[in-house]
Amino acid sequence: MTMSYGYHNKILRVNLSTGETGIEEPGERFFRTYMGGWGLIAHYLLKELKPGADPLGPDNLLVFAPGIVTGAPLGGSGRHAVGAKSPLTGGFGAGEAGGFWGAELKRAGWDAIVVVGQAERPVYLWIADDQVEIRDAGHLWGRKSAEVERTLREDLGDEHIRVAQCGLAGENLVRYACVIHDATRAAGRSGLGAVMGAKKLKAIAVRGSGRVEVANLERVREQARWLSEHYMEGWTGDLHENGTDGGLRGLSLAGGLPTRNFQEGAFEGAEKLTGATMTETILNGRDNCFACPINCKRVVEVKERYPVDPVYGGPEYETVGALGSCCGIDDLEAVAYGNQQCNAYGLDTISAGVAISWAMECFERGLLTAEDTGGLVLHFGNTGAMIELIEQIAHRQGFGNLLAEGCLRAARKVGRGTERYAMQVKGQEVPMHEPRIKFALDLGYATSPTGADHMHNIHDTGYESEGKSIEGMRGLGILDPLPAKSLGPEKVRLAKYHIDWQVLYNCLGLCMFMPYDKDQMREIVRGVTGWNSSIFELIKVGERALAMARAFNYREGLRAADDVAIWRFSTPFESGPAEGVQVPAEDVAKALDLYYEMNGWDRETGAPVEGKLVELGVGWVADLLHGRCHRSRE
Ligand code: SF4
Repeated sequence: MTMSYGYHNKILRVNLSTGETGIEEPGERFFRTYMGGWGLIAHYLLKELKPGADPLGPDNLLVFAPGIVTGAPLGGSGRHAVGAKSPLTGGFGAGEAGGFWGAELKRAGWDAIVVVGQAERPVYLWIADDQVEIRDAGHLWGRKSAEVERTLREDLGDEHIRVAQCGLAGENLVRYACVIHDATRAAGRSGLGAVMGAKKLKAIAVRGSGRVEVANLERVREQARWLSEHYMEGWTGDLHENGTDGGLRGLSLAGGLPTRNFQEGAFEGAEKLTGATMTETILNGRDNCFACPINCKRVVEVKERYPVDPVYGGPEYETVGALGSCCGIDDLEAVAYGNQQCNAYGLDTISAGVAISWAMECFERGLLTAEDTGGLVLHFGNTGAMIELIEQIAHRQGFGNLLAEGCLRAARKVGRGTERYAMQVKGQEVPMHEPRIKFALDLGYATSPTGADHMHNIHDTGYESEGKSIEGMRGLGILDPLPAKSLGPEKVRLAKYHIDWQVLYNCLGLCMFMPYDKDQMREIVRGVTGWNSSIFELIKVGERALAMARAFNYREGLRAADDVAIWRFSTPFESGPAEGVQVPAEDVAKALDLYYEMNGWDRETGAPVEGKLVELGVGWVADLLHGRCHRSRE
């Protein structure tokens, strides 16, 4: 048997309906083509999921997909993706998480897990190296994530077991339930926790005693050493110091902090919510992901009023924005408590916060009343209502039962013009980044196959002036910095290359915060796998995975018309530092046309054209879309 590096050539298959497990060995060509993450997920969804399958039915696939770099001995390698057909959007669903679970799965000797079927009663999966068991989870059902984790560790007699789970929100099929790992790290978007809950798969507990063999350890260590020596320089130093929330202050000062459901971009209470304030007040410790020296994860503790147990970590920027400024709330302890409850119940904090802020705006506009909300007075800034609604959403009780459907479905049910204030794309709530201070982000929101998302998207501000970002693009032929508030043809070209590269991070299982440049990332892939990979090969991996996700969406009935830019971002801010700024609607329309052409996506169907799919080496996807037999070119 030839030795493989970076991957084991072992994918675990689990059928919860039959109780069978098995192993698939797809081979080197598969791993070099898809690498993991989105690429691997899209491959399985396209090949195996019946078109039109119910996302919450037994046929849906739930895929846990680290990448070839996950678990390798260097900073940033603690990431993995989770994917399925999304119950929120009806299309390609994927979220990614850091922490330790993905690396542990690789250390146990597995490259991915593909789960199908539906158990009759709650079960969990126990993986100890090559031993795989489906076990009864009746005693875990309905319990909070940290309790589940503690119970599993006690039951299995090992403190070092890593746990992924669906939470109460997933059990209750909340459409934006997340998969929560280590009780703190969420594969947050797309409602994957609901898919897990529908399968009655409470948790996957993993323990690995092996390691990820790499082809050239010294080559990998060289990059690991570089990171350890340099991470305190530049913005990763601030990431260490103040976490992802370190950026909140600057965003508010620039007029781009989502405030009161994106009506405004500067929040008068921002100083109370900043990463620095968190560091000075409730921070109890810093945490990392597998092998990472940056330690950007927060651990907070609050004793009174809103008690927060450090076992649930601390809020990321996205959470502080969604439960804080977006709801008009400036109480950091309450936000930290809301974060704890979302982690305990397995709720995506972004969608939860934006669903609540939608309700608050509708309430203030008189489109929702206390009669609709069960008596809750949903003015912006009502901290108690935010906390209460998190409980109601997770338990699917009261008005929260409506919000558990996501703001688009909720608005369609309510009617009365409330859909206008649902800040979402394809049914997924918009994260805490404002396109009016970075225009190409709007294009990314509109065209993302998962609905609005900030991870596989461009943050234009990084390319405004000379620095590492634009220097990194020069090797791809983009030579000049571009203003953040522009969406001309050159910006669209920049967005294309940037987004393709972002998707690559996901496929590799590498954290997007890593300051490695493109040459270093190529060195990492070469060192881990032994392949002679080029930057061209790597960017094509990202482009391929994105094209396959788009192809999946087309097959599930989504079209170009679903790539909608939100009207509010093309309306000028009425106040704040970005007063008067809008993303011109005509620029967005032109950018969409150009972006489609650059990607080889059909302007009507939204699907990649055959020539593009063949160029990406996945002609079988074109065959699939056009109902032809698979050729031997897969
Ligand atoms: S930078 Fe932060 S999120 Fe990324 S791997 Fe390190 S600790 Fe995890």
